[in-house]
Amino acid sequence: MVSPVPPTYDSVRVRVPAKINLALKVGPRRRDGFHPLATVYHAVSLFDEVTVNRAPPGRFSITVTGEGAASVPRDDSNLALRAARLLATSFTDESVAGARIEIAKQIPVAGGLAGGSADGAASLVGCSMLWDLDLSPEQLRRVAALLGSDVPFAMLGGTAMGSGRGEEVMPALARGTFHWVLGFAHQGLSTPAVYRRFDELNPRPAVPRVPVALMEALRAGDPEALGAALDNDLQPAALDLQPKLGRTLSAGLELGAVGAVVSGSGPTIAFLAGDENAAVDLAVALSSEGLCRSVRRATGPVPGARPI
Ligand code: ATP
Repeated sequence: MVSPVPPTYDSVRVRVPAKINLALKVGPRRRDGFHPLATVYHAVSLFDEVTVNRAPPGRFSITVTGEGAASVPRDDSNLALRAARLLATSFTDESVAGARIEIAKQIPVAGGLAGGSADGAASLVGCSMLWDLDLSPEQLRRVAALLGSDVPFAMLGGTAMGSGRGEEVMPALARGTFHWVLGFAHQGLSTPAVYRRFDELNPRPAVPRVPVALMEALRAGDPEALGAALDNDLQPAALDLQPKLGRTLSAGLELGAVGAVVSGSGPTIAFLAGDENAAVDLAVALSSEGLCRSVRRATGPVPGARPI
């Protein structure tokens, strides 16, 4: 319940990272329509900021600025708004809680980087502080899992294995910092459309398992080994729906990336560089190829949703 003392904060700002999937192994479609996954999430230094401000009881509103803002919904389908309402109905007297939510986006929309889930996670962290809710990490994690498969990881950050629909996360051992170059595509890809194409291309997928070589490369902090082990079962479906992505992947590898993978359901491509200097060179060279809408450098792993 909301405490009877005046709330500690008028406003809370939360920074939350994008994720890439270092591995995404996809099993056969379940009866509930979801696919069982074995994935390795990795949070990278490309952030949205979500600010939650005090608002009159029962009042919820949202504004969005920045990267792709025009295509972000302002209604109840916005994950930050859904997160705030879900937290309010689950843990407060609804006549007390309200929030004016401001999202500043850097994570491209529908890019396979789980930007919407990130905003949902940030809103959960922000509102729980704004409303002085004394929730355990496990209580927050359970609400996060109800919101969406990628939300629990956005709260956790770092590098983690995901199972179930992706909502069951466990931190993974990883050494050092990896240097990434992210290639953003001109158009987004719809996650359901990519899974439908995956089903058509894979009538009998195997039980999903995370590749052992990838976990070893992470433990060793070895970019060359990690680059060789990157593995996404959705990549052929994403390339089929956006053939230009195949040319972008090849270009990045020819320009010196030690590995490349479509992130999640795409269309963002994550190129791994051998070190920071190599990442700078790769970003410049890839930009001048003109295949991507834009190119950004990022490092990983970074922490999940945190107040700043
Ligand atoms: P998914 O999480 O479905 O795999 P994605 O990572 O490719 O998707 P997102 O940026 O999360 O991409 O956007 C997917 C869709 O989620 C968008 O097209 C948009 O309609 C919806 N959405 C809901 N809330 C948000 C939000 N806060 N920011 C961006 N998109 C949002």
